[in-house]
Formats: sequence, C-alpha cells, structure tokens
Amino acid sequence: MRGAVLYGPGDVRFEARAAPKIIAPTDAVIRISATCVCGSDLWPYRGLQAASEPTPMGHEYCGIVEEVGSAVRSVKAGQFVIGSFFASDNTCPHCRAGYQTSCQHKEFVGGAQAPLLRVPLADGTLVATPEVPSEELIPSLLAVSDVMGTGSFAADAANVKPGNTVAVVGDGAVGLLGILSAKIMGAERIIAMSRHETRQKLALAFGATDIVTERGDEGVARIKDMTKGIGADSVLECVGTQESMMQAIRSIRPGGSVGYVGVPHGVELKGELPKLIEQVWDRKINPGLVFDLTLPLDQVAEGYRAMDERRAIKTLLRPETEEHLQ
Ligand SMILES: [Zn+2]
Ligand SMILES: [Zn+2]
Repeated sequence: MRGAVLYGPGDVRFEARAAPKIIAPTDAVIRISATCVCGSDLWPYRGLQAASEPTPMGHEYCGIVEEVGSAVRSVKAGQFVIGSFFASDNTCPHCRAGYQTSCQHKEFVGGAQAPLLRVPLADGTLVATPEVPSEELIPSLLAVSDVMGTGSFAADAANVKPGNTVAVVGDGAVGLLGILSAKIMGAERIIAMSRHETRQKLALAFGATDIVTERGDEGVARIKDMTKGIGADSVLECVGTQESMMQAIRSIRPGGSVGYVGVPHGVELKGELPKLIEQVWDRKINPGLVFDLTLPLDQVAEGYRAMDERRAIKTLLRPETEEHLQ
C-alpha cells in the first residue's frame, strides 16, 4: 500500500509502506474510509517539532474493521468504527478513573493517512457505529475522532454553563468545534475571535453570536466592551501560542475559567467518543462542516500545503478504491 510519510519540514510524500498486520492479539486492522490532516500535524510539517526519521503520518480515522486479533471482543470484521489517537485498554485503574490518556498501556496511533491502519488495544480504542453509515455522515464521524472531542474538552475545561458568555480564541477546526460545543452546553453568548471570512461564517453556523476581528490588546478591549467591562465567563484557548494564551487569560472575568487545548493532544478524549458519535448519528450535530477541502489520499501533500497556507480549515482525505485492494 501507499501512505503519507513526513521526511522533514514541508516534505510529505505519498509512498510505498508495508501494509499493517495484526501483531498483538489485542490489535485490529481497519480499512480507512476517511482520514484527515490535523493542526498538530502542521507542527512537524513546519519544522517546529523535529522529526529524526521519516514518519508515517495521521492519527484521525474511521473505517471498516478488516481483521481483529484473537483477544478482541468488542469489535469485529465488517463493522464501521471510529477510534481515538491514543490507544488505551479502558480497563486499567487510570482508564477506569476516566484518564484514558494516562493508561498504563497507552500507545499513540500513527500512520492513519493510508488505506490500512493497525490499531492497538482495539477493545478500548475503537467504538463501532450501529451500522455502516451513509456517505454524508462520514465527515462528522471522522471529526469525532479528534477535533470535535478536543473542542468539547475545551468547553468542559472552561466550565461552560447555560446562560454563560463564552469567548473562543482561535478559528481553526478545534476552535470552531469549541463554539459548537459551547452552544450544545447552553452558552447564551458566544464570541468568536476570527479575522477570516469563511471561518466567521462557519463560526456563526455553529452558534457564535458575535465576531471579534481584533487581536491582542485590542481584542481584549473589545471583549471587555461587549461585556460591560466584566469579561467572559469562560474562554476557550484553541491556538497554543504565548500570545493567544495571554489573550485568553486577559479576556476572562475574575473567577471565570479558561480551557486550554492549544497545546496539541494533552487532553482526555475516549470517554467522550460514544456520546459524540451518538449525537452525530442522531444528526444533532454536524461537526464535519469543518472539512472545507476533500482530496484523494494520493494528493496528501497538497492537503498539508493548503492548511499550512490557511487556504483550508481542515483537509479530509479519501483513499482510492484500488488502494484498498493492494
Ligand atoms: Zn489530531
Ligand atoms: Zn488503561
């Protein structure tokens, strides 16, 4: 098969890789229906995180179970599944306490930008849908694999409550889905900080009530103005730079809460997965709207470029049918 491999800054290649196989009895191999490029993939792509060797990329995925190891009980071949980017057993003391990313057996899932993927600890990591979904649900199910869960975590961590005023710093996929999550949680006023027109439109579609285009001191001043000098009850920080962090902290009212998810992947997600899948399945939420570019997987390099240059919010990648057969 062929998959995406990062060689160095700006250098993603679509090239031959060994097809994954079952290694441990707790593994599953899944045939990818859709995968995507994550904002966090851009960190090594931009050279901000050194890659010492060519690295297979991708950790957001959904697809059909091809094969399971002999110890796997909760999923079987032919089922459609969504997984999280951290494999966890869901049975150790940390998992039982709800901290799957501290699992005693945790493993990072990598190499999902490919037609086939090995998922360790399949029972704890994969969640099956009631049946194979129709095409139009696939982007939203894929979004649940990471960005929707992360946005939801940010809203939780920021202690969003019904009637609250919430400000969201960052208009990437996670920030936009943070807006959707705050809306679901009953926030009354949701201030999106964005200066890009297409992202502003999506922010409004997800439930934002106000848009602030200013940044830094001016952005903070605008939020204070809009809240009669008080500040927001909750702020979701979805960028991860020093500047965005300070902007978030200064926009909050005394005693309010900030939810940080800008630093990639320091969050707990697995507990959220079944609940979010259900909301997508029941068509209550449509987080897949964040994918504004869909490409065949062999054009993965363009998918990275488009996000790097902010021409795309998030790139969805579909393996070609013939890739499945190889
Ligand atoms: Zn991700
Ligand atoms: Zn565990």
